[in-house]
Amino acid sequence: MNAMLPSLAPVAPVPDPPLALLAELTHRCPLQCPYCANPLDLERAAAELDTATWLRVLDEAAALGVLQVHFSGGEPTARKDLLDLVRGAARAGLYSNLITSGVMLDAASLGALADAGLDHVQLSFQDADAAQADRMGGYRQGHRKKLEVAALVRASGLPLTANFVVHRQNLERLPEMLLLGEEIGASRIEIAHVQYYGWSLLNRAALMPTRVQLEAANAEVDAARLRLHGRITIDYVVPDYYAARPKACMGGWARRIINISPAGLALPCHAAESLPGFMWPNVRDVSLGEVWLTDPGFARYRGTAWMPSACRSCDQREVDWGGCRCQAFALTGDAGATDPACALSPDHHLMSDAVLEADRPPPPLVYRRIRSAALVR
Ligand code: SF4
Ligand code: SF4
Repeated sequence: MNAMLPSLAPVAPVPDPPLALLAELTHRCPLQCPYCANPLDLERAAAELDTATWLRVLDEAAALGVLQVHFSGGEPTARKDLLDLVRGAARAGLYSNLITSGVMLDAASLGALADAGLDHVQLSFQDADAAQADRMGGYRQGHRKKLEVAALVRASGLPLTANFVVHRQNLERLPEMLLLGEEIGASRIEIAHVQYYGWSLLNRAALMPTRVQLEAANAEVDAARLRLHGRITIDYVVPDYYAARPKACMGGWARRIINISPAGLALPCHAAESLPGFMWPNVRDVSLGEVWLTDPGFARYRGTAWMPSACRSCDQREVDWGGCRCQAFALTGDAGATDPACALSPDHHLMSDAVLEADRPPPPLVYRRIRSAALVR
């Protein structure tokens, strides 16, 4: 028998579950780092998701297959319900990481977080030099406070990652930053060159390192990795602007990570709100599973079918997934363009032009404040 088969429309493959949930609990933060990747339009406290919704999202994340939750912000400890959320994550079986500036923590709050089931603390430092750190964070005595908190984290038994964001104005102290990470007992040190989104894009000309600085930093990290091998892991995030190939931003669009903004928007990455033409779903209205499996915005740049010709024929297309959509949009006005960080992109000159900013005197920093965002636009 030769039965007529109905014609079938192509079915999009079911995506693998995300590995991690980036829970941006709030944009509130006592610090004012000009390199902050938060958007210029900072969300007000009144717009933030309530506790019950976050708890539901954590359960939905676990059901979807998420393994880790990163509590981030802004400053996540500014949320009065952080303890409840950490408990909720533990109940759901999620590994929880607190990404914090530390300045709002003390022994009691850290102990309570550890008891609630927190698994890991990632503490950010602006510099190894206290005066420079406080200048960059716009927060007096912040560095001293962070050193105290690092000791408390170690005393609590929680593993500690020390995070240093590096740029033109602090790279000369990279050796001291690595030493500091070692001294405070970090099991992991993250040296992250500024990635230019939101406030950091606004401050790019003041933060862009010179090539000489970058090469010295690369050599310093290589040497530290050898010296600390087997004791401390060093993660190194290089700046796209000097790269010949882009990074796999967020592990690829909607492949590994799901991001929830303070107001509940579900996004494939924290900067995706900057892209025009998307109606991002809100977790107040839809479940995380529905977002991941059916949202057209998440599907838009997932995989390789959307890619422009330079990427489609490239053997790196399933390595870097075409780079960063938000960077492509910020620099070219087209979110579907090949990331200009790639030397094969027809827009790569935009990166090389920006690097020239590093040879000019740095303009004044624009600090991350609601008021200054209004002034610069
Ligand atoms: S980068 Fe600085 S200002 Fe932005 S959230 Fe982190 S500590 Fe706050
Ligand atoms: S052409 Fe596209 S896939 Fe190939 S390296 Fe560049 S960004 Fe990556």
